[in-house]
Amino acid sequence: MRTPIIAGNWKMFKTIAEAKAFAAEAKAGNNTSGVQKVICAPFTALAALTEALAGTDIAVGAQNMHFAEQGAYTGEVSASMLKEIGVEYVILGHSERRQYFNETDETVNQKVVAALAADLVPIVCVGESLEQREAGETANVVRTQTEGAFAGLTAEQVAKAIIAYEPIWAIGTGKSSTAEDANETIAIIRSVVAERFGQETAEAVRIQYGGSVKPENIASYMAQPDIDGALVGGASLAADSYLQLVAGA
Ligand code: PGA
Repeated sequence: MRTPIIAGNWKMFKTIAEAKAFAAEAKAGNNTSGVQKVICAPFTALAALTEALAGTDIAVGAQNMHFAEQGAYTGEVSASMLKEIGVEYVILGHSERRQYFNETDETVNQKVVAALAADLVPIVCVGESLEQREAGETANVVRTQTEGAFAGLTAEQVAKAIIAYEPIWAIGTGKSSTAEDANETIAIIRSVVAERFGQETAEAVRIQYGGSVKPENIASYMAQPDIDGALVGGASLAADSYLQLVAGA
């Protein structure tokens, strides 16, 4: 019922030339249907990538944006600027941005509102640290982050968003969560959405798992009832690996 979505998060990797090379390879090997495909690239590569992937079913996303429409915010990029160059998705509240760039539940919320207003699909990241997991706080952390991100939104808006559950201890570490554990936390996130926005919204909203997903383990996540795809860092950098992830979904 929910279309699976495999999103690559390139983080601060790839020049324009490297992004174009990826696009050429991905276009040539892209033969899986029924899966939504998104590549989230650095700002500088976005325009070249939307151009290179035009006419394909591989969409392009940014990894951050500002919530203001325009203004004196040196160094920032707005939702409409992304939209203008053909970007369709934007990752918001990634743990690296929460950790290194002071992103809070409040700024994530403002950005989700701005993204939806500009008709960009937000990929909202939530997830606990190792310390929080060991203290038994996982459910509370994802509840607070989910409620915070979607505060003040309508059920209809929330249904359009994508949530990525990424336990921080699993990101870039090779220590992926077990599929069962990931599914359990994702089910908690879905129940929070149900409580706040109704059962129908909870059943419609797509929730990805992220954290050391690879072609070798994607199938185990996809076999879980509540996992609707993956947000993938390292294993999305090579086109053949990204396409294998898509095929595995
Ligand atoms: P990883 O990163 O796949 O390299 O663990 C995931 C992410 O940070 O989105």
